Amino acid sequence: MLPSFVDCPAGNEKGSFIALDLGGTNFRVLLVSLDDTGLAKIEKSRKFVIPISVTTGEGEALFNFIAASIRDFLFDQALASHYKSLGFTFSFPVTQSSVNSGRLLTWTKGFTATGVVGCDVVQLLTEALHRYHLDNIHITALVNDTVGTLLAKSYEIANCDVGVIFGTGTNGCYRERVSSISAVPTSSAIDGHMIVNTEWGNFNCLPMNKFDRVLDEMSKNPGKQQMEKMISGMYLGQLVRQVIIDQIHDTGLFSGEFSIFTAADLQTHDISNFQSDTSADLVIIKAWLDNLGITHSSVKERADIRQICQYVSERAAKISAAAISAVVLRMDPQLECHHTIAVDGTLYAKYPDFKQTIIKTLQALHGVASRRFSLTQSTDGSGVGAAIAAAVASQP
Ligand code: ADP
Ligand code: MG
Repeated sequence: MLPSFVDCPAGNEKGSFIALDLGGTNFRVLLVSLDDTGLAKIEKSRKFVIPISVTTGEGEALFNFIAASIRDFLFDQALASHYKSLGFTFSFPVTQSSVNSGRLLTWTKGFTATGVVGCDVVQLLTEALHRYHLDNIHITALVNDTVGTLLAKSYEIANCDVGVIFGTGTNGCYRERVSSISAVPTSSAIDGHMIVNTEWGNFNCLPMNKFDRVLDEMSKNPGKQQMEKMISGMYLGQLVRQVIIDQIHDTGLFSGEFSIFTAADLQTHDISNFQSDTSADLVIIKAWLDNLGITHSSVKERADIRQICQYVSERAAKISAAAISAVVLRMDPQLECHHTIAVDGTLYAKYPDFKQTIIKTLQALHGVASRRFSLTQSTDGSGVGAAIAAAVASQP
C-alpha cells in the first residue's frame, strides 16, 4: 500500500487551481474553481494528444510537452500570472515521500520516456516549467487517479472516505490514521489522517481456478495483479473466452468447430453487450457468432454464452464488494458510521447489474448494517481531484 500524504478536504477550501491529468486515455489541463460550499466547477479544460514519439522518446521532451501545453492553455486565457497552485494527477505507480514529490517506479500503458523511472516527476515538471518561464506556478500536489476520485467526492460529501476504480484496472483507497501507517516515518511531522492507496489490484491471495491460471500465465505480468485479473475491464472478456474455449473442448459447444477466436474477438464491452441482450433469440450474441463464421448456433448455445458472461461478471462484482467491505471494516469494524464510496470507471458505469450485484453482496455480508454503505459515481476524479489536492496542500 502507498501513502498519499494528502487527507480529504474539509469542504471549505476556496480558490482556482490548475489541474493536470496524465495517465488515462488523454492528457488534460483544467482550471477548476472551488467555491467553499462543496462545489467544484471545471471552468475550462483542454485535451492535448501527446505524440507517441514523445511518450516513448526522451523524458525531457515529455515534460517540455506538458509545460508547453500548460503555457498554451493559460495564454489561451491570458491568465498565466493569476494561477499559482497546480495539482498533478499522474496515474502511474509512484512512491511518494511528501504530497508534492514522488518517484516513478515503472512506466505502464505504453509510456517508455527515458530518464524518468526512479526520478521525482514533480521535480522534472518543475524544471520544465522553468524552461518555459512559468516559475510562478508551483506544483503543490501529486496524486493518482484513485486518490483523486476520493478527493473529488469528499469535497462535496463529508462522509465519503473510500475511492474506487472499476475501469481498465481496479484499485481502492481509504482514509487512515497516520499513526497506523507504518510506511510513514514516525518522526514525520504529519499527524491526523491520510489517504492510503491500497493498490488492491495486486492483492494476490484469492483462490484461483483453472481459467484464472491460464489468463495469468498468458498475461504480460504473470503472478501480479491477480485480483485485478478477476475484476477489471482489461480481463473479463478474456476470462469468458477461456471458459468458452473450455466448453468447446469439454462439452462440444458449437459441435467443437469454434476453435479460432482471439482475445481481440471478445472484449469486456462485448460481453457487457451480450449480457444486456434480452431478446428471445439473443440476437446480439448471434450477430457476434455470425461474424466469426458460426452461423448455425442454437438459442441454447447462445444462452450458455450469456450464462458464462453472467458467472464471470457476477464473481467480479462480488469480489469488488468484498474488497469495499474489507476496507470499510478496517476503518469502522462495528459499522457505526455511514460511509460513502466514490466509484469511477466505465466497467462500473456500464456493465449490466455490476452495481446491483455489489449492493446485494454488501447486503449478504452485512444485513441491515449494509445501509451504512452508499455508492456514488464520481465522474471526473482525475481532473477535479487534482485541484482539490492542490487546495488541501495549499492550506496554511
Ligand atoms: P480507464 O480505466 O483507462 O481510466 P475507463 O474507466 O473508461 O478507463 O475504463 C475502460 C474499460 O472499460 C475498458 O478496458 C473496457 O474494458 C471497459 N468498458 C468499455 N466499454 C464498456 C461497456 N460498454 N461495458 C462494460 N465495460 C466497458
Ligand atoms: Mg480512469
